[in-house]
Amino acid sequence: LDAPPRHQLPPTDHVPRPYTGPSRDEILAMRKQFANPAVFTLYREPLLIVEGHMQYLYDETGRRYLDLFAGIVTVSVGHCHPTVVKRVQEQVATLQHATTIYLHPSFPLLAKKLAAKMPPGLDVTYFVNSGSEANDLAITMARLHTGHRDVIALRNAYHGGSPSAQGLTSHHTWKFPAGGDGHVHHVVNPDPYRSPFSGTPEEIATKSAREIREIVRYSTPGKIAAFIAEPIQGVGGATHGAPNYLREAYAITREHGGLCIADEVQTGFGRTGEHFWGFQNFGVVPDFVTMAKGIGNGAPLAAVTTRSDIAQALTQRIHFNTYGGNPVSMAAGLAVLDVIEQEGIQENARVVGGRLKAGLQRLQQSHALIGDVRGMGLMLGVELVRDRATKEPAQQQTLDVLEAMRESGALIGKGGLDGNVLRIKPPMCITAADVDFALDALDHALTLAARA
Ligand code: PLP
Repeated sequence: LDAPPRHQLPPTDHVPRPYTGPSRDEILAMRKQFANPAVFTLYREPLLIVEGHMQYLYDETGRRYLDLFAGIVTVSVGHCHPTVVKRVQEQVATLQHATTIYLHPSFPLLAKKLAAKMPPGLDVTYFVNSGSEANDLAITMARLHTGHRDVIALRNAYHGGSPSAQGLTSHHTWKFPAGGDGHVHHVVNPDPYRSPFSGTPEEIATKSAREIREIVRYSTPGKIAAFIAEPIQGVGGATHGAPNYLREAYAITREHGGLCIADEVQTGFGRTGEHFWGFQNFGVVPDFVTMAKGIGNGAPLAAVTTRSDIAQALTQRIHFNTYGGNPVSMAAGLAVLDVIEQEGIQENARVVGGRLKAGLQRLQQSHALIGDVRGMGLMLGVELVRDRATKEPAQQQTLDVLEAMRESGALIGKGGLDGNVLRIKPPMCITAADVDFALDALDHALTLAARA
């Protein structure tokens, strides 16, 4: 360390409870023997986290960390946000579950509130429990409505882990030799930083969109069921195309009879700052919006919103999901929407996210490791490369940065096809002081990683 970081973690009144559970090593041993033994960790040693409060997490020793990854972009309004906790506690003590074969006010109420957040026409919502299920359901509905089977998705996309959502995913880390139904075709994604095409970002977007036409021509009967894309790829490393990409991709999809699905699992609920939904940054209106993660602030809640004429496809059959729409998840979803509105969460994502992105762009000027800074609001990516000319991914340095950040007290994520993109997507209650601390910690971590 040449110079310690200038900023310290901003103070907090929160006092974590003493932790009295099993030790980190005992938990690790149990995990390896009994529960999903492939322990995935971003750090040299897995981190034990036992408490959360707003934008902070605490380990078993009471050490506080600034959470810059939000439980993989899930904790939208803050860990254990008091309003969400209160409303969930009240609901769980009143009626935890009865099934959606009975009426309950919270189910249609949350659907109505979501409709109010959508462009006109997108007003029917189905509730499920995970993003994978939401994407599965959207594809099912698109196939039923159009009568076509083929689906177009983007390379570098992550749409989930169920067998059919895995078929939509195009990212080697998350692919197994199982899943997929043989009717999904992956086209080049419009990320200008690593595109096989040359030209301006707008030209790259147009050339990338034309790939859809080609793949429809060569690999389908000429008609398709759907095009699915994250407006900004999350696991893929905050990549997105120029604003014309989705417009052109949606037009080509519709020319071929297909419906457009915006996977808003990471980009929704104000995270991109300027708009409530990611797709709104690109001037398009999808036929389906799939959502999860931020909708419940950590509650297992996900949804698909679509048009009523498309929903008819399911009304003719019974769509049933045991936990989808259960009152406890609904209470969380309703509370999250209230908090976003009452506490100016989306505006905070815009302002604080802008400060963070500007700071990352300043760091890019002094750290050769940073190849690209991208994203919007509080959905940001920093791609690390060994050489800016060849863009060789700096994988080891990315791990070194994560480790050094952790030592400074900030937890960050990583992603991208080569695991060399820092993913910065904190709970959206993060403050300017937190951001200044994070930027100092990153400055310091990048200096260390470049030297190693
Ligand atoms: N879609 C996107 C964009 C995601 O990032 C994820 C999860 O990371 C999913 C879908 C799948 O969501 P889940 O893990 O809740 O099934």
